[in-house]
Order: sequence, then structure tokens, then C-alpha cells
Amino acid sequence: MAEQWIYLNGQYVTKENAVVSVYDHGFLYGDGIFEGIRIYNGNIFKCKEHLDRLYDSAKSIMLNIPLTYQEMEDALVETLRRNELRDGYIRLVVSRGAGNLGLDPNRCPKASVIIIVEQLAIYSEEAYKTGLKTVSVSTKRNLPDALNPKIKSLNYLNNILVKIQSNLSGAGEAIMLNSQGYVTEGSGDNIFIIKNGVITTPPCYLGALEGITRQAIIDICNEKGYKLKEEPFSLHDVYIADEVFLTGTAAEVIAVREVDGRIIGEGHAGPITLKLLEEFRSVVDKDGLKVW
Ligand code: PMP
Repeated sequence: MAEQWIYLNGQYVTKENAVVSVYDHGFLYGDGIFEGIRIYNGNIFKCKEHLDRLYDSAKSIMLNIPLTYQEMEDALVETLRRNELRDGYIRLVVSRGAGNLGLDPNRCPKASVIIIVEQLAIYSEEAYKTGLKTVSVSTKRNLPDALNPKIKSLNYLNNILVKIQSNLSGAGEAIMLNSQGYVTEGSGDNIFIIKNGVITTPPCYLGALEGITRQAIIDICNEKGYKLKEEPFSLHDVYIADEVFLTGTAAEVIAVREVDGRIIGEGHAGPITLKLLEEFRSVVDKDGLKVW
């Protein structure tokens, strides 16, 4: 197998040599931010949107990224070139960097920047037709005034607790509510429901990441004339929906066939979900930054 090259603080190193300090506050405290990005047929899908979200998250947590926007874009492209990757997943991490054992980020003089690119196989093509079994979980989404879910922070413990709970229930994904009982998102994806031809997704202020795939689906709906609303809804609305689907960089657009034992629609991916997946896949190698 060809060597895997990882970008680590300005150098390209092999996987075995890609190590960071145990004093890095990303490791000690989950202090940092990240992005998950896809490359499709040589095109970094929505590259600008991902980098914008990264720099916005950095600004929000007062993390100084030691690369300009252009330098970051160049590093992404170079990492993909060195790994000869045309189709795959990009993980971009910026942590607070090495400090001391105290919390204080002022003790971390320089952020660490890491870019890992890999091939990706999350769901089989079959899963896009059968859909996922999901459960709602008792762990609530982080409150926006505690740790705002709009920040794509390295602190994923909220999501991990949710994943543990859905694993215990034998489900493929979880649905998180906020403390008022409104549906927010999955452990790693945004959620949409469809009822009588109307597609609804929760507004992100309820407690969801502003997903880039979510926005791509909203744009497709607006362009193609689907009826779309951003409105709060509860689990009841999910249970009685005709179709439910999740969106994310890794998951793309994947149907939900079951929620808390309630069968959604016909119990497999519905026609609108499949159409949106098709529309989505028709733009992924065009809209973004061409590498190859
Ligand atoms: N919500 C959460 C909690 C996520 O981790 C992700 C994956 N990044 C998403 C939603 C989907 O966002 P995107 O479409 O930008 O990948």
C-alpha cells in the first residue's frame, strides 16, 4: 500500500510520525475545532463553505489559526496531491496547541494544524435504499448558551454520549432533542422530515450545527421548487412523517426507516429522499475547488 502522508504543522509526515504533544489542549481538553470535508472526483466539495465555518469557529473560540485562508487551502490541495486522492474524506483539525496542564489557552503559544485524508466507506449503497434504524436519546443537545452547536468544536462528548446510547439500543443513528423537547439533529448529521410533500428541517438556533450538506439540500429544494420550511418540530412530527432523512458530509443524504420503533412511511427510503440524494450527487463533483 502506498504511504499515507499527513499534514502536521507545516510538514508532511507519515502516519507513524504524525504525533502531537500530550500537552496539546486538543487532547487534554477537547480545545479546538475541526472540519470533515469530501473530495469527489478531484473536486473538494464546498471547500469555501468548510473553510469559512472553520475560521468562524476559530474566531468564536478566540483560536488563532497560524495559516492564512489561502495557505490552508494550499495545504489541503497539497495533502490530497501527495496522497493521490481523487475521492475520499478530509479531516482538518486545529487544536489550541501544546500548553501546560492548566486550562488557560494563553499558555498555548501556537495552535496545531493537522490534515488527514483517507478513503471513505461509511454506508453501503444498500443502506441508502433500506434506510437507518434510529432512536431518540435522553441526552440533550448542548445548549447554545453553554457550548454553541454552531461551533464545530473538538469537544464531541455530547455527541459521543448520544452515540453510546444509540449503540446500546442497536440503532444506527440517534436523534437528539433540545431541553425544550424540540428535535435538533443526529449525533453527526442534520435531520429533515417530509409530510404531504413539505420538507422541514429544524432551525439551527434550536441546537444544531449549520451543516454544509443541510444547506446544499436547502439550496437544491429552493432551486428545484420543493416546498421547504425551517421550523421547530417535535418527535411526534418525526413519527408521523412520510419520510425522514439525515444529511452530513460523510452520510450524504440517507433515509431513516425507523424511529423509536415507529416505521417511517413504507419502511425504506422514500421517493423524495432518493430524488434529493440523486440531485445532491449530481453536484458534488462540480461545486467546490477542483484539485485534479
Ligand atoms: N451535525 C453534527 C453534530 C455533525 O457532526 C455533522 C457533521 N459535520 C453535521 C451535523 C453535518 O454537517 P455537514 O453537512 O457540514 O457535514
